[in-house]
Order: sequence, then C-alpha cells, then structure tokens
Amino acid sequence: MTLVVDVLTLFPDALHSYAGISVLGRARDRGVWDLRVHDVRDVTTDVHRSVDDTPYGGGAGMVLSPEPLAQSLDALGERRGPVIALTPAGTPFRQARARELARESELTLICGRYEGFDQRFLDTRVDEEISVGDFVLAGGELAALCVLEAVVRLLPGALGNAESVEEESFSDGLLEYPHYTKPAVWRGREVPEILTSGDHGRIARWRRAQALRTTLERRPDLLRLESLSAEDRALLEAFAPVVDSPSGDRLD
Ligand code: SAM
Repeated sequence: MTLVVDVLTLFPDALHSYAGISVLGRARDRGVWDLRVHDVRDVTTDVHRSVDDTPYGGGAGMVLSPEPLAQSLDALGERRGPVIALTPAGTPFRQARARELARESELTLICGRYEGFDQRFLDTRVDEEISVGDFVLAGGELAALCVLEAVVRLLPGALGNAESVEEESFSDGLLEYPHYTKPAVWRGREVPEILTSGDHGRIARWRRAQALRTTLERRPDLLRLESLSAEDRALLEAFAPVVDSPSGDRLD
C-alpha cells in the first residue's frame, strides 16, 4: 500500500526539495509513498493572490484566511485519512503517533504562516493539530517535514535494513544506547571493552542498561527509577551503576 500525503502550503518548493532526497526521496522512487504539494495561493482570484488578513481585535501580524485554505482542501476531494494542521499549540508529536500515522493510507498536512490559522478553519476542517516542539517556527513546512519523515521511514520498504527502526530511541519507550564504530581507540578514547567481547548476551544486557540510564538521566518524563522492574534494576546495577538515587529523589 502506498501512503499518499497531501500538503497544503504557501511554499511548495520547501517540501519538494527535502522530500526529494535521502530516505524520503528513495522511498518515494520505490513507490512506498507519494507526495502531492498544493500551493494555497492557487485557489485565489485577486491580483495579489491574498491568503491572509489583519487580525480582528488588533495586534501585530497577519492571520491566514479560512476561505483559501478551505477551498484548497475541498479541491482534494474526500479525505481518507486525518487532516492535520501544524501548530505550536497542537499535541506534541511523539513516536507513538508516528507509528499510528504510518498505518494510514492518506495524510493531509496543512502548513501555517504568519500568526497562524483563523480558528474557524481549525474548528471545522481539521481533525488534529500537531506541534513538533515547544518553540515557534516561522512556518509549518519544517514541522510537516518532521512528521512526514518520522512516518515515512517507518513504512515497510522505506529503509534498507528493516531492523533499523526496531531498536532506536522511543521504540520501546527508552532513549537509545550509545553507538561506537572503528577505530577501537580514537584520540585516546577506547570503545567500551564489552562491545568487542563477542558475547552477544552481555552486549544486549549492557545496551539495555545504557538505554535505561540515559533515559532516567535525561528524560525522567519518560521513565522513573521506581517504575523499573527488578530485572532492569539489576541490569543497571551490573552495567551502569552511576545512577545514584535508588530512592528516585533526584528525578523529581
Ligand atoms: N502565532 C502563533 C503562536 O504564537 O502560536 C505562531 C505562528 S508561527 C510564526 C507560523 C506557523 O508556523 C504556524 O501557524 C504553524 O503552522 C508553524 N509552526 C510554528 N511553530 C510550530 C511548532 N512548534 N509546531 C508545529 N508548527 C509550528
């Protein structure tokens, strides 16, 4: 099944350019997914191709008018998948949502600009708002590409090595363990001895312990020490004992 992604934007080139390279480009060439980019200005009829106007109630900046966006959406016909607007006020985007979206046959992504969307358009034509982080971009194109790439690389056939998405950050609720490559000693720093031991069972346990420790230290919102199983606590004790707060106080 090919995932079809429609993107509504004022800057189509931004989408075409990034979607044509690397993982996205190759997967598209192989028919794993397809991209249709729609310039919202194409539905306008005035000489300035206007898509925005001043905000009711005053204030700085311009607001995207609902009508050109609605007409652009209408022109796509009936939607088979979610219609998603990229907004800083949306639900924070997570890997779990990327996995769900990768099961859809069709996605519609709508990129904002200026001060954002007229609320009536969001209320009546959009199923979901997604934010890619607690910061403000100038437009929704980069945010749409973040969502797009996170979803497409999960599609069967998108990546060369099918295992590559199975052991990475967030796949099991943890951040990933650290990676090392050749040389074995780089500028005086050695690869952890266990990785060159050839003992795959120990390596797997060490990696899980590192993933647990990194997640506990950096993202206590994802994992708390007191929620760990006895087995994971033992792994930490054996392989990554620097976690120094058995009570979990440090994580509060
Ligand atoms: N006035 C808006 C606010 O304060 O929330 C910011 C609008 S922003 C300058 C313009 C557009 O960029 C938004 O409509 C949205 O499409 C996109 N955008 C900016 N930051 C984003 C984020 N963190 N996640 C998703 N989209 C974002």
